[in-house]
Amino acid sequence: MMARGLPKRKPIVGVKQILLVASGKGGVGKSTTAVNLATALKVIEPEKEVGLLDTDIFGPSVPIMMNLHDTPLLTKDNLMIPLINYGVKCMSMGFLVDEKSPVIWRGLMVMSAIERLLRQVAWGPVDYLIVDTPPGTGDTHLSLIQNIPITGVLLVTTPQSAALHVTRRGAVMFQNLNVPVAGLVQNMSTVICPKCSNNFSIFGNGSQSLADELGIELLQDIPLDTKITEFTDAGTPIVIAQPESNQSEAYITLAKKILHFLSKQQVSTVEKKRELS
Ligand code: ADP
Repeated sequence: MMARGLPKRKPIVGVKQILLVASGKGGVGKSTTAVNLATALKVIEPEKEVGLLDTDIFGPSVPIMMNLHDTPLLTKDNLMIPLINYGVKCMSMGFLVDEKSPVIWRGLMVMSAIERLLRQVAWGPVDYLIVDTPPGTGDTHLSLIQNIPITGVLLVTTPQSAALHVTRRGAVMFQNLNVPVAGLVQNMSTVICPKCSNNFSIFGNGSQSLADELGIELLQDIPLDTKITEFTDAGTPIVIAQPESNQSEAYITLAKKILHFLSKQQVSTVEKKRELS
């Protein structure tokens, strides 16, 4: 008998845990968070393998932010070998298309590109795969949720109500689809003055009320800081460029909280499997 229903989620060969990084709006610092989180995880646990998958087909950021511009080599089985920088294995559509040309694709082509980035990459072994997703909640997110086992999602927002409004929608979507929400990152709520280095609040702290309303944790505040832009956009995450700085410390603290979340999820998966057997 042929079965009906949605396709079963298939693990990515060699990958243990998968964390999505998502945001309601573009430009709130989602990719910056994903890149600094991935490098921070590698700094904290150098013996572990960390991967970073950029699923933003139309605006990939990983090639620039991780300073990787080669085309991946292929294994003899025709799998793409991730490019590595700062110890993190990376894959992005940006490695496969001309960086200067716009990608003009329709839905199905995007889906098959995502499928390729998931299944035709020699990822393994990877302990933590951080997946940078496009802004909003669209086909890519649904396709990821339906096709691979996701350990959780980290939401990134800025504190203005326009951003919080769409973050709420995203969070509810993930909760409705039973994807555990690891928490919220509030980016650019304060600014570090380049002259005096003091930290000023500019947009308030609206993310805390949203986190309370949704019953999720506000994990970390990341200040708006010219050093973060400068280093990230030049291809060196601040965690690597200035490891002793307060800015780097913020990402390291975030990464430690994410490790705590991932290990809790692993324990609950093992318990569920035991109950079922
Ligand atoms: P998104 O992925 O949400 O579209 P990006 O991570 O690409 O956003 O960030 C957009 C721009 O904002 C980038 O130039 C990045 O360097 C900058 N940026 C992100 N977070 C910060 C921050 N905390 N301080 C300063 N600049 C930041």
